[in-house]
Amino acid sequence: MILQKFSTGLLFLASTLLFSSEQSPQTTIQKPKLILQITVDQLRGDLPDKFMKHMGKGGFRYLKEKGVWYKNAHYTYSNTETVVGHTTLATGANPAIHGMVSNVWYDRVKKRLVYNIEDKRYHILSKNADIDDSTEVDSSQALAGTDGRSPANIMVSTFSDELSLFTNEKSKIFGVSVKDRGAVTLAGHNGKAFWFSKTSGEFITSSFYYDTYPTWVKKFNDQKLAERYLGKSWTLMHDKSKYMFGNSDDNPWEEDYANFGRVFPHVYGGKENKYFNHFLTFSPAGDELTLDFAKAIIDNEKMGQHDVTDYLAVSFSSTDYVGHIFGPSSLEAEDNMLRLDKTLASLFKYVDEKVGLDNTLIVLSADHGAPEAPGYLAKLGIEAKWIAPLKWNKKPSLSRLEKKFGVGQKLIESFFPPYLYLNHTIIKEKGLNLAEVQKAVAKEIMEIDGIALTVTSTEMLNNTLPDTYLYSAALKNFNAKRSGDILILFEPHCFANDMDGGAIMATNHGGPWTYDTFVPVIFAGSHLTGKQIYKPIRPNDIAATLSAVVDAKAPSGSNGTVLLEVLEGLK
Ligand SMILES: [Zn+2]
Repeated sequence: MILQKFSTGLLFLASTLLFSSEQSPQTTIQKPKLILQITVDQLRGDLPDKFMKHMGKGGFRYLKEKGVWYKNAHYTYSNTETVVGHTTLATGANPAIHGMVSNVWYDRVKKRLVYNIEDKRYHILSKNADIDDSTEVDSSQALAGTDGRSPANIMVSTFSDELSLFTNEKSKIFGVSVKDRGAVTLAGHNGKAFWFSKTSGEFITSSFYYDTYPTWVKKFNDQKLAERYLGKSWTLMHDKSKYMFGNSDDNPWEEDYANFGRVFPHVYGGKENKYFNHFLTFSPAGDELTLDFAKAIIDNEKMGQHDVTDYLAVSFSSTDYVGHIFGPSSLEAEDNMLRLDKTLASLFKYVDEKVGLDNTLIVLSADHGAPEAPGYLAKLGIEAKWIAPLKWNKKPSLSRLEKKFGVGQKLIESFFPPYLYLNHTIIKEKGLNLAEVQKAVAKEIMEIDGIALTVTSTEMLNNTLPDTYLYSAALKNFNAKRSGDILILFEPHCFANDMDGGAIMATNHGGPWTYDTFVPVIFAGSHLTGKQIYKPIRPNDIAATLSAVVDAKAPSGSNGTVLLEVLEGLK
């Protein structure tokens, strides 16, 4: 009895010590007035440093000197595409859980390919601002069956949702990007999203968010800021001799899309040019316009001016378009990085004036990395190639399948890499075994040049796969409702042409290899001090960390780990 009392006393003493050390004043995290989450579309983790020499002071250099920079952050799922990465950044979940498994998937109920955030219930608020199929370069958006957009397809909560729940909707939440999916994902289910219409040159939204545009948005669009580029060109910021790629402006692997040209200056053209707004997005101008709208949100919505934390997500899309068209090792990409740096510096300066950087937590990352252009790799002696899976010579494969199952072509309901969807009705009608058909078709797909691995949904559901890097990446991308029967993974330095041979690009991302998975994760502002950290982390950790910063619970599918270096720095 005495012993028991003694040990209870010790326990009490130990817990009091623990309690008091956890409660001491210096351990309190100072909650920011504003969280500014920046996503750079297609920013591989090494690119800011690669081009930092000619950057100014207030952008990436500020992040490097004053920020906590994780230099070994990788996505761990297989399909490194835009909506997948943005949703992982927003939710801290892998696509298996958040459901945005690729930019496009096949909807078995609708019996067609669907665009990730399409939603026919919520039309865009502007007339004549829907995408124009004849000029749209984004092949996934062009597949949308409606102009309507909403976050309804995101199956879990986002950090911004959790912030909203924690403050009973008192926190103001906004997302803006040139790309609709870049804004909708991060704004979450309770925030407001705006994106750029390449048809009208305005920032637009859908009826999911508003019944009519707020007055300030109308005023912003009335300024017709895109028109300031009429008759102008994208020119180099510095003398050509200063650039790493100054001597290689005209590379044969670069794309001359709609006569935008392969060399500087890239001429935007006038009102007669139906690609005018597209050209803005293929250049730093797209990010400059996004910056203007972000500043307008901060100003008009009085972001970071009250007693709870507000959240602004800005996704800069130009780096992605420039990367696809010219490649990340091009004079265009190099100048775009310098211009993006200037855009970031301008945004940080504006936030400092309006909110104070001390009151702001900045987090910058990317939705995916970027491979080098196959043409450039070949020049360096690294074998790389384009493949066109849809041009797969099916005949021999289909006749083998027909011989085995009594049915060939009809087995395949839809094929849009990385997924192939089988016709389950026919398989059922013919009394075939789904797993056997999947295995046989997967084996035939392996015949296509440049395929590293095929994985069937039955293998993933039964969890019978060996614990290897590729199978693990495939599993993290597998959502039973949206992923196809067969997942196709390409060999390193093998790239599926987005349009399957229809449109030529300099390069394309979307695989499980490090050039695609590697992104920067940088926290800055508030009281953080400069630090570079090389331990492996995942971009999933951002949502978990932001939740911890504001004391909210983590998003519903989050599997991220709280980054303690950031929390420590905020004390
Ligand atoms: Zn992207």
